[in-house]
Amino acid sequence: LDLENFTHPAISKLNGSFWFHELNEECFPGQTFGLRIDKVLHHEKSEFQDILIFQSSTFGNVLVLNGIVQCTEKDEFSYQELITHVPIMSHPYPKKVLVIGGGDCGVVRELVKHLGKGVEEITMVEIDRKVIELSVKYLPDMAKFHDHPKVNIEIADGFQFLQDLSSQDEGGKYDIIITDSSDPEGPAEEFFQVNYFHLLKSAVKQDGIVIMQSSENIWLNLTYLSSLKEKAQQVFSTVEYCQCYMPSYTSGQLGLIVATMDKTKNLSKPLRTLSREQEEKMFRYYSAAVHEAAFVLPTWADRALR
Ligand code: SAM
Repeated sequence: LDLENFTHPAISKLNGSFWFHELNEECFPGQTFGLRIDKVLHHEKSEFQDILIFQSSTFGNVLVLNGIVQCTEKDEFSYQELITHVPIMSHPYPKKVLVIGGGDCGVVRELVKHLGKGVEEITMVEIDRKVIELSVKYLPDMAKFHDHPKVNIEIADGFQFLQDLSSQDEGGKYDIIITDSSDPEGPAEEFFQVNYFHLLKSAVKQDGIVIMQSSENIWLNLTYLSSLKEKAQQVFSTVEYCQCYMPSYTSGQLGLIVATMDKTKNLSKPLRTLSREQEEKMFRYYSAAVHEAAFVLPTWADRALR
């Protein structure tokens, strides 16, 4: 797409170059994360959201939904690895795994690493077929296992999917549920309400683990995070918050809410560990040490989220 003739509210020309800015006064009041654009690869309004994919000068290809960065080729592994391996390595036999959202298929790529080593079945429920198709084209390393024979992809609303499960009395089937959704504005809104935690509880086994991206971070909106954690605590017995470095998310830090019904479980300690050599072969971000450290928060945030 010719940048000179392309208009998008998040793209502007500054000092002779084109820049993307994550402009969202509600989510990021008074600040914005920006990337210089080399090329706009794709733009469309799908049935569910505004999808923009561009090649940046420094972060590789970037997927943006409704003006908010979802992932960049440079740092996606940080988030994808933490949201996947924290619950998997905390569970003794994570046979059946459900991913809600996750259209770039990065979480699926991480889960495939555990096939034959505990994980037997992977289901991903993504609302927008377009995100998957475009990720296959423009984010090929993330989406490389979208057609893996052990990966079952359903195109559906994840909230509705869980509601149907609970009404069919088919709850309690998954060992792990990973909610890799976009932010609360748009089709992911329902994932940040108490009712969603109830649905997760009915879909996960008694000793299962759920994890979700918390949308906000400790620098931007600690009050929101603490209220999200409280919503999870109304439903689950053990709820923790862990975090990773994520330079392409505004403020550079992203948190995850992780929860289980097992009162005695220490989610911050991996149950299964690998040798350092195996860790270096399998992961770029995750390790047993990173797992534990991800649960350690700076003092002020720890106090607010305790
Ligand atoms: N890692 C990213 C982040 O934290 O911003 C999320 C990436 S992933 C691309 C988010 C996916 O959630 C999108 O593909 C979006 O279409 C999907 N999604 C949003 N609402 C959904 C819903 N109700 N059901 C299923 N998938 C949904």
